[in-house]
Amino acid sequence: MRHLAGSFLLFALALRAPSPAAAQQPTYDLVLAGGRVMDPESGLDAVRYVGIRGGKIAAISATPLKGKTLLDAKGLVVAPGFVDLHAHGQDDENYRLYAMDGVTTALELEVGNEDVDGWYAAHAGKALVNYGVSSSHVRARMKVFNDPGALLPSGDGGHMVATQAQIEEIKTLVRRGLDRGGLGIGMGLQYTPAATRWEVLEIFRIAAERKAPIFVHNRFFGTKEPGGSVEAFEEVIGAAAITGAPLHIVHLNSMSLAATPQTLQMVTEARKRGLDVTTEAYPYSAGQTEIESALLDQFVGAPDSMLHKLQWAKTGERLNRDSFEKYRKEGGMVILHLNTPEMEAMAITSPLTAIASDAGVHLGKGHPRTAGSYARVLGYYVREQKALSLMDAIRKSTLMPAQRLEKLAPMFKAKGRIKVGADADISVFDPATVADHATYEKPAEYSSGFRYVIVNGVPVVVNGALATGIFPGRPARAPIHR
Ligand SMILES: [Zn+2]
Repeated sequence: MRHLAGSFLLFALALRAPSPAAAQQPTYDLVLAGGRVMDPESGLDAVRYVGIRGGKIAAISATPLKGKTLLDAKGLVVAPGFVDLHAHGQDDENYRLYAMDGVTTALELEVGNEDVDGWYAAHAGKALVNYGVSSSHVRARMKVFNDPGALLPSGDGGHMVATQAQIEEIKTLVRRGLDRGGLGIGMGLQYTPAATRWEVLEIFRIAAERKAPIFVHNRFFGTKEPGGSVEAFEEVIGAAAITGAPLHIVHLNSMSLAATPQTLQMVTEARKRGLDVTTEAYPYSAGQTEIESALLDQFVGAPDSMLHKLQWAKTGERLNRDSFEKYRKEGGMVILHLNTPEMEAMAITSPLTAIASDAGVHLGKGHPRTAGSYARVLGYYVREQKALSLMDAIRKSTLMPAQRLEKLAPMFKAKGRIKVGADADISVFDPATVADHATYEKPAEYSSGFRYVIVNGVPVVVNGALATGIFPGRPARAPIHR
């Protein structure tokens, strides 16, 4: 509340007088009044008043509560704030897009960082939403090989086989990041194709020893063997079985493409055998990555018909052999139109997948999943297609990601739920209108329909508009050991 001066006008519009019935009750900092509270853990789905005090949910009541501030939630869904396990964009431009899409916690877990302390220090006091990072195998490898890449390797970090001594150096860095509270381990095998199966096992052994989930972008995608999705899923599920590491396979949709039915079956079977394997998906048929990265090696020398599936993010143009070579030297973001709406829908509606955006824009350019993932699930998949229930969509966006992290980082037991004692990270939206507006051409368009988004008790979206000049986001971090 203390930080709300910048958004006072918007905020004042939402005020209304407390009802007489609440006169004798304690006064909460903030009350969400009369919304349809939906909590995927308890199954609560009923009209309730939610009282917030000290950044926590302090009361959930069937009768009115008294608050210094009341936000009218009548006719709106009151859900836990969305927890995004896969958010590369970690600056104010991206945080604003996330908040307007209902996200209250944005985590960079796939790539992670090689300097966990430095990463958290760099974001402290500057974040609209909660933020967190994993300890990075990818970037530890880049450091050991002095790779010049921006986010991902573009040189030896991806393409050089490590000696056992170099693997030990990488392991020391990965362990150090976990010591410092990194949220698991980030691994991107398609970006480090020179990492041997043995190196993979060595890193999985650290994940097992620390009981830290390892977030993996697999080695391959597609149906062509060898080097297809099924083989790639076998590699990491096999490594989890051998070592005991908790495994989270990132963006199953783009890791699977036409093999989505097979890979979903493989994850189901692995779980049936007692393996701790989880996964996630984003609701778009195209992917995005750095054109100079090893993932694009498979497009070198490809025919124009294949290269036409690639779109240069900066200009929106489709690529051919000449432009592909030119931009690969230049470096930058490329959008890959490789999947189908049918496979996307299968991945999104599977009970196995959490929703995770794989987000990131820079100066308004990038992939629409950054701004629109969660609204697209609620608007397109729930309301229009009726392919998911509202509660299931909320569960995939809140409880499932929180549960993936809570064994390593117990603070996540207070996220992804609407219950007394939970963090007051809350998304309040209109299920009849919530919609995404970001497109491949205009990726930085805000979603609409989120009336209030609250981070640690502080409204960052009020009456559908972003508050300004406030940074209530806190570090989401595992315990620091040494
Ligand atoms: Zn990825």
